[in-house]
Amino acid sequence: MDGRQATPRYRGRFAPSPTGPLHFGSLLAAVGSFADARQQQGAWLVRIEDLDQQRCLPGADVSILKTLQAFGLCWDEPPSYQSQRTAYYEAALERLQRDQLCYPCACTRREIAALGLQGLEGPIYPGCCRAGLPPGRRGRSLRLRIDCGELSILDRIHGLSTQHLSSEVGDIVLRRADGFYAYQLAVVVDDGDQGITRVVRGADLLGSTQRQVYLQRCLGLPQPEYAHLPLMLGGDGRKLSKSLAAAPVDATDPLPALTQAWHLLGQRSLDAAPSRVDEFWQQAIPRWDLARVPLGPLKIAGSDPLPAAR
Ligand code: GLU
Repeated sequence: MDGRQATPRYRGRFAPSPTGPLHFGSLLAAVGSFADARQQQGAWLVRIEDLDQQRCLPGADVSILKTLQAFGLCWDEPPSYQSQRTAYYEAALERLQRDQLCYPCACTRREIAALGLQGLEGPIYPGCCRAGLPPGRRGRSLRLRIDCGELSILDRIHGLSTQHLSSEVGDIVLRRADGFYAYQLAVVVDDGDQGITRVVRGADLLGSTQRQVYLQRCLGLPQPEYAHLPLMLGGDGRKLSKSLAAAPVDATDPLPALTQAWHLLGQRSLDAAPSRVDEFWQQAIPRWDLARVPLGPLKIAGSDPLPAAR
């Protein structure tokens, strides 16, 4: 041993929510995270984020996995399902409770909204139950006690991104009143357990990253690197989910969508037009360059020409 710590092997992941078939916006995240992992000889994992059963569509997980395969996006370990990992989320909560880093909260959404403290993403919890439940009230949810000023992350695409967690976000819910574990808890536990070293995902989650990093610190987990890919907007400038571009991608004809995703991610064209997905990836992986990915947001409409690569 020469005393140097070996750098852990790159491990990336794609974590779709099975709320419907894979659409173009998700394909973009899958392509970016896969190419980035493969270009660095890393492992690429798929995690089905099916915690919120009310939002999940039966069969959507199978449909997403089949579509990923048709696009040549092959995972290295069996896909994991968050619904089967609740014991790990519970263990993390117990640890946080033991360390007095989370507390039961009796407040309803309506009560919190009525106090009108608006944060970066919805109302900020005003702290009513922080020092203990008010007499006669029953704990509904569990909240993380966030005592943190500015927290910065260095995103590999967006650069430095800073939030004042206590004043801009506030104490977040880790287990909801309906008993479901919150995404923020599950994603942190899973990224930690799966040894994820770099998270490449959509920029809609850039603003969640600081609270995830805070939670990693509370749980003594290592911090992965982050790269947030540009968000897709429909041609009409609306969120992709509300536009035509949210239509499922065609698993029977993957090359046009793959090529379009590649260009939208700012990547250099391939030398020869591939006729199969394995040929596409053979040429594409060595060319992948995270530094070329645009900040976005990207606009897409069915009739749009491909944007020129940088
Ligand atoms: N499940 C989230 C989504 O489908 C992604 C979460 C993540 O990558 O951290 O948008």
